[in-house]
Amino acid sequence: MKIAMIGAGYVGLTTGACLSRFGNSVCCVDINQARVDSLRAGNIPIYEPGLSDLIKANVDAGRLTFSSSAETAVADADLVFLAVGTPPLPDGDTDLQFILGAVDAVAPHMRSDAVLVVKSTVPTGAAQLVRKRAVAARGGRAVSVASNPEFLREGSALEDFMAPDRVVIGADDGVAEDRLRRLYAPLADLTTLLVTSTANAELIKYAANAFLALKIGFINDIADLCEATGGDCAAVSKGIGLDSRIGEAFLRPGPGFGGSCFPKDTRSLAATGRRYGAPQPLVEALVERNLERQVAIGRRLSAVLGAGSRVTVLGAAFKAGTDDLRESPALAIVDALLEDGHTVHIHDPKAREVGERLVTGAKWSSSPYEAAAGADAVVVATEWPEFAALDFERLARMMSGRLIFDLRNIVDRNAALAEGFTLHSVGQRPQG
Ligand code: NAD
Repeated sequence: MKIAMIGAGYVGLTTGACLSRFGNSVCCVDINQARVDSLRAGNIPIYEPGLSDLIKANVDAGRLTFSSSAETAVADADLVFLAVGTPPLPDGDTDLQFILGAVDAVAPHMRSDAVLVVKSTVPTGAAQLVRKRAVAARGGRAVSVASNPEFLREGSALEDFMAPDRVVIGADDGVAEDRLRRLYAPLADLTTLLVTSTANAELIKYAANAFLALKIGFINDIADLCEATGGDCAAVSKGIGLDSRIGEAFLRPGPGFGGSCFPKDTRSLAATGRRYGAPQPLVEALVERNLERQVAIGRRLSAVLGAGSRVTVLGAAFKAGTDDLRESPALAIVDALLEDGHTVHIHDPKAREVGERLVTGAKWSSSPYEAAAGADAVVVATEWPEFAALDFERLARMMSGRLIFDLRNIVDRNAALAEGFTLHSVGQRPQG
């Protein structure tokens, strides 16, 4: 099939590349001309494992192209996907300006039988809004609109797309349902294609993200209790996660959740609840607690550090495997440390380029050891695998102090203690 993918960000690029691998002809469109130029020149503007090779293979096979012209890209498309950003408004609700702007740009030029698919995360009812807007932009001509929320995770986006737990197809008419069933046929033997209404599909996405975020928020509170009582949250997580009704995923305590999805999607779900008079107090409390936690962790570090310490923060991305810094807890902690008068050196294997523009009060280094030279303390803020294999003998030689704050519980505890470090992990009392 012929596909136009509007928005060539994390989701648009990954989805576009994967759909082209199924044999479809895909054109990824972005209003950011520099991004399109870069993609055409073979430079992938985001870091996602395997994406660069997948894009190259499909561009070489003639199935994947990039354009800044929505009009041309949608003209002969069977499916037009909207994968543009849906950022939060100040009150937490979702800003649909990019969605509606994209609808205005594509709707007048779509074929009469093309299906407009909302891939972006949007509050329930948005597909209806998109349909109305598209019909108006087409001078009253009808258009089929579907909702196909995306569940991929940055850092494992290709695997998540190619082997998802489920594909949710929100369709209110037979044309949309048939077209999307055909599109996802290559995955039909691997996973469940859940066909439902657009309104349900939209709610599924928010409810899923809020539920996962609630698990994280819950275990973070339990981690505080473990620290206060002398328990070990790793053992508690294991013990509750083995209950198949609960499951082990998302029960690792840390510095609070971040990224481009959980913070904004939980705020949006809470805002939708307020708007419809169906409050979501659990999610409201979660949003609040998560923000408090990031600041509290920064303050907790400061309380242990001496005044004006030199601190090395390892990791800036909101999680390992990505260069995405949006709402990263690592950056909230860096801000808190800077505010408290400490000197901060940061190393992140992938996020330095964007990070240097964003965080100017800290110094960026190209290796953990360069960042740690002369430091009083090291904070592991992102779970990059290389931080699980830190050479503590080398760190001990180059650091002034012997403090490690492992906010992801990944460092080699015995190696750190053997070199005389004091180790502060999440969910247990300090050791050493
Ligand atoms: P992003 O910011 O990386 O990419 C969005 C792109 O859309 C940008 O490159 C922007 O220039 C482009 N754009 C905006 N308006 C446009 C227009 N009118 N025409 C063409 N291009 C336009 O965003 P993202 O992370 O890919 O997220 C996209 C959507 O997918 C959001 O709703 C997000 O919540 C959802 N989502 C994201 C993830 C994730 O892990 N990033 C996972 C699931 C769902």
